[in-house]
Amino acid sequence: MGGLGSGRQPDEARRREVIRLRAEGLTLVEIGRRLGISRQRVDQILRAIDKERTRRLACLACGGAVAPPGGAPPDVADILCLSCLAESPETPFAQRLRSCRAAAGLRLRDLARRVGLSTETLRCYESGVREPRWQQLAPLLRVLGPALVAQVPYEERDEPPGYPPQATAERRGA
Ligand SMILES: [Zn+2]
Repeated sequence: MGGLGSGRQPDEARRREVIRLRAEGLTLVEIGRRLGISRQRVDQILRAIDKERTRRLACLACGGAVAPPGGAPPDVADILCLSCLAESPETPFAQRLRSCRAAAGLRLRDLARRVGLSTETLRCYESGVREPRWQQLAPLLRVLGPALVAQVPYEERDEPPGYPPQATAERRGA
């Protein structure tokens, strides 16, 4: 501690200090003096914080925030919040995936790492170029939760394949 190399605080700690001092009503010059950085640097930090806070990824349907505060991934757009998603089972998988990823606050590469798929594959799923098979869907469900797939009310479901009883009866009789 106290060596030459320790003068630079980690960015995150410094940001927190800037926020705290600003909340106390200090001027940019005063904050800069306390933290040993220039007024311009303080200004830059405050602007970056502001930009992040205003970027709250609004839901296309209700306008509500989708991502956790301060956790909006920068690489996602055209999304729904989880409650709107639950109410619209017709939402295509690509949009469900983008929405769930935003709600989880994950960047594409973070999600890729957690599910063991390439970012390229995920990008294809998110743009609707491809849809995952069960093998890829399972890890996505594990990380993003059941909102990823549409929960269709029972009465709206199609009859299961091979359902008509007469078909079964015929097969049985054969
Ligand atoms: Zn919504």
